[in-house]
Amino acid sequence: MKPIQLYDTYTRSLREFTPLNPPEVGLYTCGPTVYDFAHIGNLRTYLFEDILRRALEFNGLRVKHVMNITDVGHLVSDADTGEDKMEKGSRRMGKTAWELAEIYTDEFKKDLGRLNILEPVIWCRATDHIPEQIDFIRCIEAKGFTYRTTDGIYFDTSRLPDYGTLGRLDIEGLQAGARIEMGEKRSPTDFALWKFSPAGQQRQMEWPSPWGVGFPGWHIECSAMSAKYLGSFFDIHCGGEDHITVHHTNEIAQTEACYGTRLANFWLHGYFLQVGEDTKMSKSGGGFLRVQTLLDKGYDPLAYRLFCLNAHYRAKLNFTWEGLDASAKSLERLRATAFEWGAPGVVNTEFGERFAEPVNADLNMPRAMAVVWELVKSELPAPIKKATLLEFDRVLGLRLAEWQPQDAAVPAEILVLVEQRQRARQEKRWQDADALRARIDAAGYILEDTPQGPRVKAGKG
Ligand code: AMP
Ligand code: ZN
Repeated sequence: MKPIQLYDTYTRSLREFTPLNPPEVGLYTCGPTVYDFAHIGNLRTYLFEDILRRALEFNGLRVKHVMNITDVGHLVSDADTGEDKMEKGSRRMGKTAWELAEIYTDEFKKDLGRLNILEPVIWCRATDHIPEQIDFIRCIEAKGFTYRTTDGIYFDTSRLPDYGTLGRLDIEGLQAGARIEMGEKRSPTDFALWKFSPAGQQRQMEWPSPWGVGFPGWHIECSAMSAKYLGSFFDIHCGGEDHITVHHTNEIAQTEACYGTRLANFWLHGYFLQVGEDTKMSKSGGGFLRVQTLLDKGYDPLAYRLFCLNAHYRAKLNFTWEGLDASAKSLERLRATAFEWGAPGVVNTEFGERFAEPVNADLNMPRAMAVVWELVKSELPAPIKKATLLEFDRVLGLRLAEWQPQDAAVPAEILVLVEQRQRARQEKRWQDADALRARIDAAGYILEDTPQGPRVKAGKG
């Protein structure tokens, strides 16, 4: 196989990827802030990261994938002002911030399952790592990169000569444009490491620290937890494109101050899902679509996965219902064709290589999909086509091996439960499997396990 090329935002170039400690790859992907549901724009980023992970595994590498859950410290404004999103969400929902975190973490994991996104090997919650974050801030403080204001401990970005390299920040320009919202910060790029609880007010989430009672800034959790689980310099760090200029720039600053490394060897960023030209899908704006919205409208969530596979991760993607319809049709066709091919034979190596080539060329999935359709149209014997397609599906993640024609009267939502139960069985989570079967029964559907896999029918009545 050709070596993997990945586009590294730090150097703004395609670079050949070789793991620091082969065959293991350390991968850290910034996770959700759990104050609300994820929208399908957020999930586009997690889909891109899933394809990256699968592509690395397809190349025989072992991926130690770590994802954080931000359940404290992410303020309404990325400039460290405004309320904590969790505390604000807690008022909106009439639940505690802790309850909110649990609800939306579960919902997030459910969405990952529905899109067949592999779960990280390690999940880590910011609130479970307060001592690690405090230690990290102490390290930065000991190296002389901090100062204190009335509302917290800040990182002094002027002390770091290459601050802002990742984001190619124009520091002087930013300084000239700085306005009053800077508060007591010395420079507009300085950011909070630890914020004090507001005087006379008890936050739901607050901890004692060497500097006073308060809570960690948003960026420190990722520096602290990635160091804990992957070391101070590891292979790949990912997130959405909006993380380039602030969040990841600041993660690098913290780790550089403490350990002298730029945190990760490769920095990869997924581009936005937009609703209409130049409007990113956002939690606050209109057009907030969830995986559940797609299910309610009768779509299989994997149609959205295929929709995303048809665009390169480094291009913005406009969401349209027509586009999703087209992907739903393609998915149906691919599944039905693969089913008709019957049992798999041996993989065709030539097609295997032709597929690996675009995958390894910076995850060019639109080109990889073109190879998939060529395979479908080819004159190869069905068992070979089937085996080759299933091999490709290790990267595509469209669950082509599991699919069976189902009774047309069974809605996508029930089919998702069937798939989840199947996965629970494969992972020997028998209780989960039983609970899922009970939900399918209760909804009035009949589930049968056949040698080819589960089949579901609409029940009587
Ligand atoms: P959040 O939960 O807001 O912290 O965001 C989770 C992830 O989704 C981050 O990696 C963001 O960069 C990413 N993200 C936010 N909006 C979009 C969008 N419209 N399209 C793709 N990714 C997004
Ligand atoms: Zn992060």
